[in-house]
Amino acid sequence: MVFIRSLIILFLSCITVKLNLCFSSIPYSLKTLNLEGHFNFDEVHHAARDFGNRYQFLPSAVLHPKSVSDIATTIKHIWEMGPHSELTVAARGHGHSLQGQAQSHRGVVINMESLQGPKMQVNTGNSPYVDVSGGELWINILRESLKYGLAPKSWTDYLHLTVGGTLSNAGISGQAFRHGPQISNVHQLEVVTGKGEIISCSKKQNSELFHSVLGGLGQFGVITRAKISLEPAPEKVKWIRVLYDDFATFSRDQLRLISTENAFDYIEGFVIVNRTGLLNNWRSSFNPQDPVQASQFKSDGKTLFCLELAKYFNPDNNERANQEVGNSLSVLSYIPSTLFLSEVSYIQFLDRVHVSEVKLRSKGLWEVPHPWLNLLIPRSKIHNFAEEVFGNILTDTSNGPILIYPVNRSKWDNRTSVVIPEEDIFYLVAFLSSAVPTSTGTDGLEHILTQNKRILEYCETARLGVKQYLPHYTTQEEWRTHFGPQWEVFAQRKSTYDPLAILAPGQRIFQKAI
Ligand code: FAD
Repeated sequence: MVFIRSLIILFLSCITVKLNLCFSSIPYSLKTLNLEGHFNFDEVHHAARDFGNRYQFLPSAVLHPKSVSDIATTIKHIWEMGPHSELTVAARGHGHSLQGQAQSHRGVVINMESLQGPKMQVNTGNSPYVDVSGGELWINILRESLKYGLAPKSWTDYLHLTVGGTLSNAGISGQAFRHGPQISNVHQLEVVTGKGEIISCSKKQNSELFHSVLGGLGQFGVITRAKISLEPAPEKVKWIRVLYDDFATFSRDQLRLISTENAFDYIEGFVIVNRTGLLNNWRSSFNPQDPVQASQFKSDGKTLFCLELAKYFNPDNNERANQEVGNSLSVLSYIPSTLFLSEVSYIQFLDRVHVSEVKLRSKGLWEVPHPWLNLLIPRSKIHNFAEEVFGNILTDTSNGPILIYPVNRSKWDNRTSVVIPEEDIFYLVAFLSSAVPTSTGTDGLEHILTQNKRILEYCETARLGVKQYLPHYTTQEEWRTHFGPQWEVFAQRKSTYDPLAILAPGQRIFQKAI
């Protein structure tokens, strides 16, 4: 009897050892791969963090690829392990996701910024473009293309993000009303699919993959290379801010501007909730057109709406630019004493958020939780939204900038994977909150998350047809609702390009079957 029991125990422990070996040997099988770059199995903590500072999933390994074939070899290896391996793969751009989207629990994170090819190359000519690695930062692309007097057409407000990271979402800023988002300004991509194949794609070649990957939340492949459309770059920018105390007038002027040819090159706006001394803060970088009147303006306590505009120009056409700005402003209905102007170089204008980053970092306020909420709201519902959110939910304070500006749907390609509202014009509304880590008050994480939830609940009960941008959901049911009629196509694309659901597990849309 004792003998039989010992035999059973021996048998069971053998199975356990074998299972343990099987799991622990998975990362080690990665060590056998022939790569130009390398894996790191110890220093993986950095890959478990992101800008959101709320989710942390430790990977088993971080790949520092030197070439596209390093990425293809790794993914192919995991693909060939089949559904029995639990390994997943997340491309990590600059890690500026908000809820762990670039993380992979016990999987492999690819540090895209290590990718060294292709060397960035600007192609001048009739339709200029820049050929870059998927791990390149937009700020570097700007610096390089400016050497040729060129620059990408469409931006994000912050440039220390990678090409692969923003093209996986959309890439929206104040130029989008004219040029569309960044995903509308790509000529060609090179992608490594979830089977480890390296495929070039464009609108004409492998177009299904091209459109899948753009706005595809990293689900269909790793973008290793992109050709991005360029235009002649201006040298300077007239940067303008004006205030409104009434949402209807503010949004009417925004809409008027986005449909006026050649009025401004950049159109955004933001909401100012209960801020005192606002105009004094601006004085460090903006000049009031009429200093005496501006000093009499009292912002205290009111919710205000700021229209932010930019006009690009070169010094030799300064006079004409001034005239055009004057004409465009003359038809707007802002509070006259609140016209503020500044003239900066093009690069200073585009890299403006980095200046705030440096300041916030020096005060230890950059690496705090960021419970951001980004929404795309149909034009016909923006007044209802503003009334409820700025009139009832967010009346006392905000914990960071609140952006609000319209874009034209016609500049978006409906074959891409991104989900946007149905109407011709929709607004981006971005609540860019920072939380004070230990606070239990109105600046604490819990309070801000509750406010975000109230906003989302309102959008749902009022049936505004809102879509989340940089979406975050935890169940597939919610994802299906997010995609609506696009879900079938999205799921079909997944089964074509990443059938084992190896890629971008941090989005929590599909789960690897094991
Ligand atoms: P990561 O966070 O590293 O990755 C994001 C997602 O893309 C992950 O799922 C990841 O797996 C996937 N991914 C990354 N690289 C690749 C690749 N090469 N191939 C395939 N998938 C990949 N967005 C705007 O549209 N407009 C803005 O104005 C804007 N401003 C921002 C300002 C700040 C301060 C921050 C922090 C974010 C801002 N964003 C803005 C959001 C930003 O575009 C996204 O968070 C973007 O994903 C960040 O890029 P990243 O390189 O850090 O990507």
